[in-house]
Amino acid sequence: MKPVSPHIKKANQNFGQKLQQIQKQRQQRQQQSNQSSLVEEEPIDDGVEEPLKKLYLVAGREKSILRKHPWIFSGGVAKVDENIAVGENIMVCTFQGEPLGIGSYSPHSQIRAKMWTFDPHTKVNQRFFDQMIQNAYHSRKSFLWGKGNGGRVIFSEGDGLPGIIVDQYGPFFMLQLLSAGAEYHKEKIVKALCKIEGIEGIWERSDASVRKLEGLAESHGLLWGKAVPDRFKYQEGDRFYWVDLKEGHKTGFYLDQRVSRQKVQELSKDKDVLNVFAYTGGFGIAALKGGAKSVINLESASLPIQISLENAQIPENRTSPNQIFESKEVNAFEELRKMVKEEKTFDLIILDPPKLCEKQEQKERAIRAYKDANLHALQLLKTNGLLFTFSCSGLIDSTLFSQIVSMASLDANVDIQVVDILHQAPDHPWKPTFPEGYYLKGLVVRKTN
Ligand code: SAH
Repeated sequence: MKPVSPHIKKANQNFGQKLQQIQKQRQQRQQQSNQSSLVEEEPIDDGVEEPLKKLYLVAGREKSILRKHPWIFSGGVAKVDENIAVGENIMVCTFQGEPLGIGSYSPHSQIRAKMWTFDPHTKVNQRFFDQMIQNAYHSRKSFLWGKGNGGRVIFSEGDGLPGIIVDQYGPFFMLQLLSAGAEYHKEKIVKALCKIEGIEGIWERSDASVRKLEGLAESHGLLWGKAVPDRFKYQEGDRFYWVDLKEGHKTGFYLDQRVSRQKVQELSKDKDVLNVFAYTGGFGIAALKGGAKSVINLESASLPIQISLENAQIPENRTSPNQIFESKEVNAFEELRKMVKEEKTFDLIILDPPKLCEKQEQKERAIRAYKDANLHALQLLKTNGLLFTFSCSGLIDSTLFSQIVSMASLDANVDIQVVDILHQAPDHPWKPTFPEGYYLKGLVVRKTN
């Protein structure tokens, strides 16, 4: 949750002005034709850098591109043509010069290029972004979203658009551009997004730390149309959450846990629930809506704590005024240990820590932290109680994650059985050709003794 620096505001103002012009033109055209169309008949800029400059792979390194993995690491690059701009489209070729597809060049990143297409004949231009973005949007509309007024519209490599994240909250799109290529095509992306019917504003949240790896500064603010409100009332299933779109984590909410929150709601009736790493009370509110007797949220950040309490005040989120709902501003690792000493017990515990393993070097430490939290959660669980336990670290795969939970149960001297396997919601799809996209894994375990 960082303040917006003045130079970022300035850059966004310039870019914003350009887009305001587009909006004006669009309104004029709409007035003329007196009908709204999804795809505007504006001139399509097809003349992108033809012929494309080339990147030649080290001999043999074309294998991963032929398997449609979209990343090219620096070690796989034999040579590149001169004078390629950061993020510019490049033709990726075998060592011998045979074209394999088109990517964006990122000279400052270990991932030297990310692929937009594995077809060398596709043009990565305005029409490309229009089509890809509309496909992603309509796939959600037709089958991926449940009841509610938001969700993820574009999930980067999972939608064939590396570095582009778009989340929808009612009439607003929140945009994150996380790669040099995405940044390079920013204007086209925004143009494509503002053509989607019903969208009134596009707000940028390109403030994730991964931008640094690509040599990009943060960028935050209005890109097009109406500014987002300070608080948006997001509906997910039949639950409601206040979302701080401008300053909240990610683009304001952990949309990836939608399905798992629904499961918690279904299993919470009359239960005493502990929600660890609670953020704005996502799972806690689900438990409340499911009829929990009591909910305790543990979270270290104060603004999310305050929002969690406001969420509990929304009348639709409760089944009775007598339900207890508390949010504690604590270090959850320490609080769990303390609760074990105090011999507290719960029927249902949710453990949804932040990404504890960002890099390979952090793996051992992260494994210990995950195990520690799971061990204490299992000690706090009543017999027959359920633990919803998660890891969103891509570097901890599902096999390792279940080994960690297994070690925790052995150290806690409790028997458990897995009753469900959880993962990121379906509006966060991943491609089997890009397994890194499967980052959020969870288990529901029952304590049997
Ligand atoms: N389950 C939440 C998302 C959790 S994200 C939802 O459904 O919305 C992880 C949360 O853990 C973040 O809000 C972060 O602020 C919090 N956190 C990080 N380290 C923590 C710590 N040591 N103790 C308590 N909370 C922590």
